[in-house]
Amino acid sequence: MKNLFDNCNLCPRRCGADRPHGKTGFCKMPDYPLVNLIKLHYGEEPIVSGTKGSGTVFFEGCSLGCVFCQNYKISRGPTGHGTKMDKDSLAGAYLKLQDQGANNINLVTPMHFAPVIADSIAKAKADGLDIPVAVNCSGYELVSTLRLFDGLVDVYMPDMKYFSSKLSSQYSHAPDYFSVCASAIDEMVRQTGDAALGKDGLIKKGVIVRHLILPGGLFDSKHVIDYLTSRYGNRIYISLMSQYTPMPGAEGKLKGRPSQRTCESLADYLASKDQFNAFVQEYDSGGKEMIPDFLT
Ligand code: SF4
Repeated sequence: MKNLFDNCNLCPRRCGADRPHGKTGFCKMPDYPLVNLIKLHYGEEPIVSGTKGSGTVFFEGCSLGCVFCQNYKISRGPTGHGTKMDKDSLAGAYLKLQDQGANNINLVTPMHFAPVIADSIAKAKADGLDIPVAVNCSGYELVSTLRLFDGLVDVYMPDMKYFSSKLSSQYSHAPDYFSVCASAIDEMVRQTGDAALGKDGLIKKGVIVRHLILPGGLFDSKHVIDYLTSRYGNRIYISLMSQYTPMPGAEGKLKGRPSQRTCESLADYLASKDQFNAFVQEYDSGGKEMIPDFLT
């Protein structure tokens, strides 16, 4: 069977890196998962975290690489503190989180390790994992890679960061971000169907699209809201996040926070679209305290 890490084309960067032979591409990652942190996490949307927490696995590396990344400590390359894991050890970790009472398994930025992650989910399900499995990602994903998860992932939590290719070029070196992300979300919705909650009020299947409000991004955020509400409406959840915090080295507009007025006006705009499957983060929540204590 073809090793998908050979001449890697797992993400839209399509680097062609020969990862099994030690070469790396844009994501700087080897051909095995590096896990920085595994924990019960309480900072997700209430339908994800609930009261018992979301069983979260934070992977190192990212194939999008936003200049303002809130998880920059682990997303820019191997930290040297990550644990090398395979499908069996990952499956064991998911089962342990289930034993600890996790509402779900929440895999954060796993797509550059997709073949191993898909195998790990299949193994865990065969071994008794029966809580929902969620993939939490940047939205800059290839449909062909997402198909590896078809029938395995219950919930997707992608970002839709930008509508404008000017912004996606400037902040993520990805002029094609919007069109790639739109196709990816279509595939995610196709796989999971409409979002559905259980009697416990927690999500069992579906898609939650996150949008982080950026400083100076009011009009772009409106375009993202227009797109998502007109294409999917309440078939998906939309989560509007105002937790943006400038990271070290931030320049220009990114040095500040989005204003409270901007965030409130976007919340009103979303409400005006009759999007009741929505979350709007409190303006005062967030900031650096939302960022987990990564091993660095
Ligand atoms: S997953 Fe990494 S190596 Fe593979 S194409 Fe994407 S950035 Fe390049």
